[in-house]
Amino acid sequence: MNGLARTSSILPPPAGSHRRLQSVHGHDGVDLEAAQRAVADLLTALGRNPASEHLADTPKRVAHAYAEMLTPREFDLTTFPNDEGYDELVLARDIPVQSLCEHHLLPFHGVAHVGYLPGERILGLSKLARVVELFARDLQVQERLTKQVGDWLLEHLTPRGVGVVIEAEHLCMSLRGVRATGSRTVTSAMLGVLREDARTRQEFFAMAGVPR
Ligand code: ZN
Repeated sequence: MNGLARTSSILPPPAGSHRRLQSVHGHDGVDLEAAQRAVADLLTALGRNPASEHLADTPKRVAHAYAEMLTPREFDLTTFPNDEGYDELVLARDIPVQSLCEHHLLPFHGVAHVGYLPGERILGLSKLARVVELFARDLQVQERLTKQVGDWLLEHLTPRGVGVVIEAEHLCMSLRGVRATGSRTVTSAMLGVLREDARTRQEFFAMAGVPR
């Protein structure tokens, strides 16, 4: 198989006319109609009238917004043989991250730095961003998101090492509670050589621009 680009599809085709959108995350997808009813109930519970002119379309908009935020786009994983034997880190910096915290259903957003030390195959660069999106479009905690991206790359690319750092601001921290506006949470997952070898790990953090 070496010498060929290899492509495999990551997500099932869109659910088409099915009412419940499919999920790739191993749980039920979004039921749009049930979500609309629930948003109308929430508005009522918040003391608002969901039948008022201003709010009439809000349940529908909110349901679709959540469906979009929880449904990653399909992508093909294209890998290429590492014919040149490239054995230095490959790093994509500042990949945008938008996700929803599972504790408050509020967004957290920031950037991811994702790198790997190639083995026999290398990856189309834009795919690193797609892998981040694959797991970010879910109800998440930042720690799990970071680890899932790393584990997925280790499994699908079989590189010699993987490093993932995510820096994100959580609206549940900046808008409520401690109201720590601008505070960013940093998480990292180091696998393979990046876990075992301090020098490679240092190089990753230096390239990512993350103080360590
Ligand atoms: Zn939260």
